[in-house]
Amino acid sequence: MEDYGYISENIENIRKNIDAACKRSGRDPKDVLLLAVSKTVDVDRIKVAVDCGLNSLGENRVQEIMEKYEPMGENVKWHLIGHLQTNKVKYIIDKVELIHSVESIKLAEEINKQAKKHNLVMDVLVEVNMADEESKFGVKPEETEGFIRELALMDNIRVRGLMTVAPNVENGEENRVYFRNMKQLLVDINAKNINNINMDILSMGMTGDYETAVEEGATIVRVGTGIFGKRDYTK
Ligand SMILES: *Cc1c(COP(=O)(O)O)cnc(C)c1O
Repeated sequence: MEDYGYISENIENIRKNIDAACKRSGRDPKDVLLLAVSKTVDVDRIKVAVDCGLNSLGENRVQEIMEKYEPMGENVKWHLIGHLQTNKVKYIIDKVELIHSVESIKLAEEINKQAKKHNLVMDVLVEVNMADEESKFGVKPEETEGFIRELALMDNIRVRGLMTVAPNVENGEENRVYFRNMKQLLVDINAKNINNINMDILSMGMTGDYETAVEEGATIVRVGTGIFGKRDYTK
């Protein structure tokens, strides 16, 4: 049996950091979900995190959710956080709690269609490319409201909030402006009183910048490396 004690230690530290960031910003830690990003991580190690109370798991590939779905059992909740291809929506529509990465009308329409088939309403986030990075998916900040107005018309989709993948930086502090702007974007769009739109989720912050994100209002932080250590993509 391998010693996976480092995982529980990591989680304990991250929780302390989240608590401290909440304290600094006058927030309640209960309002922040620590999503364990389990991509490339095997089931044995994921179970250690679940035993520490992290039962919401983030994956960026449909294939990995399919493979881990049965072995992980019913007590976990899966979040799809990565780019989702339209033709794969059907595989995960009844398996995931939240899709973080909606960034095209075509994808939203397919989610709506598959959700309708399964007689469910799918919770989604709109991925916003806050830093306007060439390499990143996501709608532009200034196009987000218009995009959401179109999603608001789809009966089997519920837009719960916004998600961003901030730039990869040395110091998480550098991303504060993007987190702050995204919170403001959510507040501004909510204030438009669009029918069916009342967003309450901000998915932002990863291993390098989750504390800053929490200070700026994140309600979901997506942490992988910080929990499980460096990812091994060779397997
Ligand atoms: C991999 C991934 C994360 C986690 O990144 P870490 O730096 O390992 O914490 C968060 N969000 C998305 C969308 C990812 O693909």
